[in-house]
Amino acid sequence: MESAADKLAEVQSNIARMCKPARREPEDVKLIAVSKTHPAERIIPLLEAGHRVFGENRVQEAQGKWFQLLEAHPDVELHLIGQLQSNKAEEAVELFDVIHSLDRPSLLKALAKAMDKAGRRVPCFVQVNIGDEEQKGGCPIAEVPAFLAKVREANIPLAGLMCLPPSGIEPAPFFALLAKLAQDNGAEGLSMGMSGDYETAVQLGSTHVRVGTALFGARGS
Ligand SMILES: *Cc1c(COP(=O)(O)O)cnc(C)c1O
Repeated sequence: MESAADKLAEVQSNIARMCKPARREPEDVKLIAVSKTHPAERIIPLLEAGHRVFGENRVQEAQGKWFQLLEAHPDVELHLIGQLQSNKAEEAVELFDVIHSLDRPSLLKALAKAMDKAGRRVPCFVQVNIGDEEQKGGCPIAEVPAFLAKVREANIPLAGLMCLPPSGIEPAPFFALLAKLAQDNGAEGLSMGMSGDYETAVQLGSTHVRVGTALFGARGS
């Protein structure tokens, strides 16, 4: 069986390979190891291999695992990649270094308030509902410019735009659309690409890939 370090090296080398034709530098693509559902024992080998950037999608689950892991590895950068309820904003601001799911005015208000209270500004990606899917979170495309203005007004550091393209169809057009939206609206970062499509996302300008399965294996097994 491949070790965690082997898988990490493989994903990193795939990222580097896709950077080349796109004339990008591998250092400009941050690999977020998505450790959701995996226990600390599965995370420790990646920490031991030197990896320091991790993603979780639930505040409570992350608290349970990471308070202890962070004691041993205070230099870890923790990203919240999942939908966030406004009533969890304070806890999210305390624990996470970057939030990828800012997508609505009520959450913006709650996060701004939590950041004021904590005296800590946490950079946020604005999640965009790039496939216009009813069941998915994310700011509607047409509302992105106005929402970004609100984010800036609230003094929340804008990390960039994030998307989860519709499943089952070619993701490239959605990644390209997110990149265009970011460019048109002066947003720098692009959080896009998961295990199945991070190589395509890197070609199209992703600065943050969120990779779980390719590093940890399937969830729930
Ligand atoms: C779970 C998750 C990922 C990682 O998915 P994999 O296919 O396991 O790489 C990425 N982004 C978000 C928002 C997720 O919820």
